[in-house]
Amino acid sequence: MKSIFHFLIASLIFFGCSEGGSSNSSSDDQTTASDDSSTTSTTTTNLSCSNYQSNNFTCFKLADSDNQTEFYLISTTNDYVLVVSDATYALWTADISQGDTGFYKDRRRLAKNLYSIFEDHFDFIIVFNQYDYETNLNLSARAGYSGINGSVSNSVSGIGLSKFSSASSYGSGGKLGSFIHMPLHYYVSSGPMLHEIFHQWGNYFFKYDSGHWGVSGVGGGQLGGFDPSTLMSKDNLTTGEYALTTGQYRAASSKYNSSFGTFANGGNSVPYSPFEKWLMGLIPPSEVPNFKIPIKSGVTYPQKGSNGLIEADSIVEVSLSNILSNPSQYDNDSTPKEYRIRSAAYTGPRNPDHTTSQKNFRALMVLVTTHTLMGKYKHDTFWNTDKNAWDSKPGTTKTIDAFQSSITKFAKNSGDNLSAYAEQKWQPVPAGAETTVISGKIYIKQPDTNYNFWEATGGLATLQIDNLSESLITSSSSRVIAWIKKQSGSPNLNEEALIRIQRDPFDDPSFYLSRSHFPSASIKQLNMTNGSFNY
Ligand SMILES: [Zn+2]
Repeated sequence: MKSIFHFLIASLIFFGCSEGGSSNSSSDDQTTASDDSSTTSTTTTNLSCSNYQSNNFTCFKLADSDNQTEFYLISTTNDYVLVVSDATYALWTADISQGDTGFYKDRRRLAKNLYSIFEDHFDFIIVFNQYDYETNLNLSARAGYSGINGSVSNSVSGIGLSKFSSASSYGSGGKLGSFIHMPLHYYVSSGPMLHEIFHQWGNYFFKYDSGHWGVSGVGGGQLGGFDPSTLMSKDNLTTGEYALTTGQYRAASSKYNSSFGTFANGGNSVPYSPFEKWLMGLIPPSEVPNFKIPIKSGVTYPQKGSNGLIEADSIVEVSLSNILSNPSQYDNDSTPKEYRIRSAAYTGPRNPDHTTSQKNFRALMVLVTTHTLMGKYKHDTFWNTDKNAWDSKPGTTKTIDAFQSSITKFAKNSGDNLSAYAEQKWQPVPAGAETTVISGKIYIKQPDTNYNFWEATGGLATLQIDNLSESLITSSSSRVIAWIKKQSGSPNLNEEALIRIQRDPFDDPSFYLSRSHFPSASIKQLNMTNGSFNY
């Protein structure tokens, strides 16, 4: 009933302000604002907080980068913020090929506006764009990434990264660790949500593969890599389709799988690996299995083929504890490039260690949208008998409702063990695993293939997103002090120092648990245009 009411309000406002309703308020700063998205815009000029308060939102009226009205609405569920502005939405969904987009030139302003409303309580600010099924824009292709992590501060030593903080430039007093942008609102459930959060802690450890684990057996985790216990050589796989010869190996992200990724392992379908848990401060180094590192002589790196195939000259076993106690031995020319660490000075026992580290994190979830888009419905797929083809029509679930349910699930301190079957190829059936035979092929039941944050940490850490009202700045005077309003010539545009940004294109189809959102053609296109991720 509430959603119908809201939709009516939206329609009345849209039709009631025709004199101002046709113009998109984007300025010439926004060279990237697209023509095709302007059809969905409704001007916010004639709106006020009372429009939203009548729908039980807590509303704050601030200014966007054009000094136009921008609404900040706290959801009735008290666990995310809607940022409602045509110009802001256009900027954050703009095409990167046309110039810098929202993440690059608007994230600090957006954060400062948020900190004019909220206390400095958040480890992560995570910004999503609401998807518009009507325009069907590929927001990931337009952004140029499937997720991006802008590192804001680090207070942990030992993980390969210096301590630093640029939190004040975001309006944070020092708490904020990362500013993350996900171009599509459903990336929270499919991934790469766990992956982007993890970039807070890695990979700064190894020089190898610019930010991810690459072809290395440090664990089949959120940043790729393989589980060292799955490694097979010519001695193990002697016959059949997957047989190996000298210089060939096979490995997988887990004992259930038959392959792995070099920078991700299927979005949220895998938990954090033991090494990743150590980096996060959740377990001691003694609980991290020895790494198995494929080595290639000369300047080339080991290559990964299909079905987990690795081409390498040899495998070296390396102990994390050994690296931590002798970091300088792993940061010199005699160390094979495959496991050279990034910095002996910043590598060693983690401080704080797993007994005193932070375990409970808070994220401020932000959905950038427009007034019009808030009232729109998700489209359901149906068989169109006239066209004799699949078609879509307005459905019954709001995209906002879908976002709501996925963030709620992601932040729960419990899991749902969503099992699935993986084909047995070269991997042995794990002890105790259920199998089924379909068309003569054996499938292994994986006990869980969709992890939320708590599950991915093995129940060792939590991510709180709710109780936002308790984090509101209560004193009006402190809010005035914190109020950041864009001045003419403000440095909040085009001033970004692009340090420590992890940008993740999907150049590996295994990145996602479900690719149903992406036709293969669009993935191919992204492969060609976004092959580099050396950020
Ligand atoms: Zn990444």
